[in-house]
Amino acid sequence: MRGNSMKKRKIVVRNKAAIYVLIGALVMFVCLGVVTYHKVSQLMIDHSKQSAMALAGSISGELDGDMLAGIRSSSDRDWQIVYDQLGKYRHYSYVKYLYTMRKDDQGNVSFIVDADTDDPVAVGEPYELLQDMVPAFEGEVCCDNSVSSDQWGSYYSAYAPVFDKDGKVVGIVGVDISIEDINSYLKILLRNLAYIVSTAALITMFIILVFSTEMSGWDMLTGLMNYEMVVKNGNRLKKSGQLTEYTAILMNIKGFKYINKQFGYDFGNELLKDMADFLKTGIKRKELISRTGNDNFFVLVQNENAPAYISRIEEANPVSMESARMDGLPAPVRCGVYRIGEEDTIEQVMGICTVVMNAARNQKKENVVFYNKEMYETLLEEGNLLGAYKEAIKNGEFKVYYQPKVDIENYTLCGAEALVRWQREGKLISPAQFIPLLEDEGLVTELDFYVFETVCNDIRLWKNQGIKPVPISTNFSKLHLTNPSFASKIVKTADRWHVEHEYLAVEMTESSGYTDQEALTEFVEKMNESGISVHMDDFGTGYSSLSMLGDVKMDMIKIDKSFVDRIFGRKANGAKLVENVIRMIHDLGREVICEGVETKEQVEFLKKTDCRKIQGYFFDKPLEHDEFTQRLENPSYEK
Ligand code: C2E
Ligand code: MG
Ligand code: MG
Repeated sequence: MRGNSMKKRKIVVRNKAAIYVLIGALVMFVCLGVVTYHKVSQLMIDHSKQSAMALAGSISGELDGDMLAGIRSSSDRDWQIVYDQLGKYRHYSYVKYLYTMRKDDQGNVSFIVDADTDDPVAVGEPYELLQDMVPAFEGEVCCDNSVSSDQWGSYYSAYAPVFDKDGKVVGIVGVDISIEDINSYLKILLRNLAYIVSTAALITMFIILVFSTEMSGWDMLTGLMNYEMVVKNGNRLKKSGQLTEYTAILMNIKGFKYINKQFGYDFGNELLKDMADFLKTGIKRKELISRTGNDNFFVLVQNENAPAYISRIEEANPVSMESARMDGLPAPVRCGVYRIGEEDTIEQVMGICTVVMNAARNQKKENVVFYNKEMYETLLEEGNLLGAYKEAIKNGEFKVYYQPKVDIENYTLCGAEALVRWQREGKLISPAQFIPLLEDEGLVTELDFYVFETVCNDIRLWKNQGIKPVPISTNFSKLHLTNPSFASKIVKTADRWHVEHEYLAVEMTESSGYTDQEALTEFVEKMNESGISVHMDDFGTGYSSLSMLGDVKMDMIKIDKSFVDRIFGRKANGAKLVENVIRMIHDLGREVICEGVETKEQVEFLKKTDCRKIQGYFFDKPLEHDEFTQRLENPSYEK
């Protein structure tokens, strides 16, 4: 596989972007959390502080000095003495609590004395006491605003000095405000958290929404736009009136299902990536390229660039994966091309491209199919047929006709082929019109069994009416070969209708491809065991191989009309070819029947070559049930 570095990079870049967004969201959460915590703590402190200071202020009455008071000394030892001494006064009502010693950065140590707030003046006594006791005491007032904790909880402490008339400090008022109204703070905290969480959730949702909308527009495997994104961009072009400047091309990889089955999904994925690379080359600015699902790629190229872009794909024009790879195209593609018209919307353009691309699928000759009106209408009609199929089979719109096979030794009826027709809205639609469509959609297998059941039913009916039936062959698509119970399903159906196996035959066109041949051989063996014959249809049309004749034990080989036409055709040696092919088939021990025989000369010639059985308009066209019943009753033909 060629390098996918560009796409990988794109995907990696997008993954990185996702990680950045997540990290960003996380950092945002953490920051918001820290800020809120800080804010709430501050709120709690401020609240306590205000209460404490207000209380302390009111207790200290008209005194207007600094709010807080303490005592200060530069000597640790002094303070230790004071502390001890003060401890002795604990029993005094005015010394309610003795607070811890504190030491500040400068080495100053301070006490806080908590006075009885009911008797603030009394606090003066320990103050004087201190002055007496501590020689180093300088009588300074210092401030203390702090939050402290002890076994009773957290407090905010505020102290106010008490002055006498002369301005002398006579006492200290200490007030502790317990931060115990924690519940209310918790509520604040929770409310704030709720704000944060919901805001953060909204922001995150927004980020995710923007990000996922952005991501959802891209195909993760190839890094191209996806269906939604290309439609969105197409609509934009439509709005701005620029859509008509573009040619739309829808492409898909030939046999992609087969590639996936045969080589595995990983290989399939690599192929899709390589295809995306290939198709991206040649895309110009303002042009769009997308993977719209599975193996479908849709591009909008500007009209002037379209021929070059298409011929690059056409020139590669590979017939197989191997040759595709040699030409630089990862696999053969088919394309539907449409130059966008005035009225078209992007959705309509895609619909048209799909229909046109399917034409490339069906006609199997050209890889690139350009839209034309006539072809498009036929294709639409086919689409309608497909759409009507399910109802039609339920309503019994499919009719089985029988085309006689004649033994030209004695000019009598020796068999028939069941051929289906679709009776729709008063018209009879030929199988050539709908069988290939149903085959493409995998629906034909159901119809084949519908025909087979009708055949069994009719044989039973004729027998019940005392009419001797002839062996009737039914066409089965090669799609059945992928079903392992195909053979047993045929036998079971026949037995359900109590139809003797000698009256039944299966017609199959030999298909190319080794896997099919293996399955075909196995199927034929099972049929041989059951006594139901197998006929090889359309021999000579190019699908049959000579080696197949020897390998697979088909009971009868049906030489195709195109071969029969050669007998008296313009091509040289046609008659000799037919003669020798018939001889070879006989030599291999197989029976021969020629179909599409239309003239007396052809019959005469075939009689000389020992081909005993003939099917063709010379004797009969496919007949309706009743007409064929009459033929069964009168099985002789005029010589
Ligand atoms: P086929 O199986 O090769 O059937 C023979 C086709 O040649 C039939 O066309 C028949 O009407 C036509 N034919 C027979 N004698 C002459 C003749 O002398 N001159 C000309 N010009 N044509 C002749 P028909 O019925 O249109 O069927 C076409 C094909 O559709 C069939 O080719 C078969 O491949 C497919 N088909 C028909 N019925 C079924 C079905 O029930 N299941 C499947 N899978 N395929 C079916
Ligand atoms: Mg046939
Ligand atoms: Mg045929």
